[in-house]
Amino acid sequence: MRQLGSEEKGGASRLFLNPSVRSTESIRSYNGVMNAKIMDGKTLAAKVRADLTERMAARSAAGLPRPGLATVLVGNDPASETYVRNKQKSTEEVGMASFGHNLPATTGQDELLALIADLNQRKDIHGILVQVPLPKQLDAMSVQAAIDVHKDVDCLHPENIGYLAQKGRQPRFVSCTPAGIMRLLEESGVKLSGANAVVLGRSNIVGLPISLLLTKADATVTVAHSRTVNLPAVCRQADVLVAAVGKAEMVRGDWVKPGAVVIDVGVNRVEDSTAKRGFRLVGDVAFKEAAEVASAITPVPGGVGPMTIAMLLENTFHAAELAD
Ligand code: NAP
Repeated sequence: MRQLGSEEKGGASRLFLNPSVRSTESIRSYNGVMNAKIMDGKTLAAKVRADLTERMAARSAAGLPRPGLATVLVGNDPASETYVRNKQKSTEEVGMASFGHNLPATTGQDELLALIADLNQRKDIHGILVQVPLPKQLDAMSVQAAIDVHKDVDCLHPENIGYLAQKGRQPRFVSCTPAGIMRLLEESGVKLSGANAVVLGRSNIVGLPISLLLTKADATVTVAHSRTVNLPAVCRQADVLVAAVGKAEMVRGDWVKPGAVVIDVGVNRVEDSTAKRGFRLVGDVAFKEAAEVASAITPVPGGVGPMTIAMLLENTFHAAELAD
């Protein structure tokens, strides 16, 4: 394994300010040439959670109510079950209250809306998270719009995403995954002002809000999607490339501009008979190839994922503050 300092990487040194990003030494299993530094979401998320635990203690000492997060899971999608379980566990670990609502896959729209109405009323619940995707018979948009805007910790209510979009407005909440990406970029000292950012994907939960946040941070943002012509060429323009498409290792090494910062949001299961569970998780980026040309990259797992949960906890804490 060859290691390069940021000065040796041309464009990379322009983007990077903070030398404390985890070094390439930590990827032990890789024997090729890796130039990229690893943006370690796991360690940063642990710091965020430790900070929140302290703030929770201060809140409790001040006699303020314990923040509570309600998670709503409809059906039995195994990936969704794992995500929700992890969110509940992390909520409890920082001392917040977790209220799990697991509904059958056959749940109707009225039934789900009735539950949301009940959660909206409850004083012990400050944040509400409805895990998506929802089963086909349910309309996610009207469910998200039914959540009290002050409890919308995933920032999917049209009013809250409107606040996020408009210039000069201070949003109540920033969507968890995009907030986590911004925190990782900030912690890594990536200079966004004037950078060309390409966001692959335009979903309400990742692509759209991260493009808004990057715009607010003065990057020049291109949003690419399934109808974009010549995706590799568009990606090669990016100083900062965010991939959120849900296609295993779609972004190849030669799509990455030398020295770019690559944020891999994708979480995809690929069959692997050598793995205990029969599958392993990969991102939307071919990690090894991209790591040869990028200046920094998030791993999957251990990059964006842990940050999403940490930001959910911060948003829940903030929701409790809004209610004080
Ligand atoms: P999504 O709602 O399915 O959106 C996917 C986006 O990618 C769409 O905008 C789609 O374009 C675009 N797309 C799909 N195929 C494409 C292709 N071949 N070329 C170009 N664009 C393409 O997905 P999502 O909810 O944003 O999630 C994306 C990925 O991130 C998934 O792997 C998901 O599991 C992961 N994720 C991870 C976290 C985390 O915390 N780590 C959180 C959320 C999501 P159109 O709009 O044209 O259809």
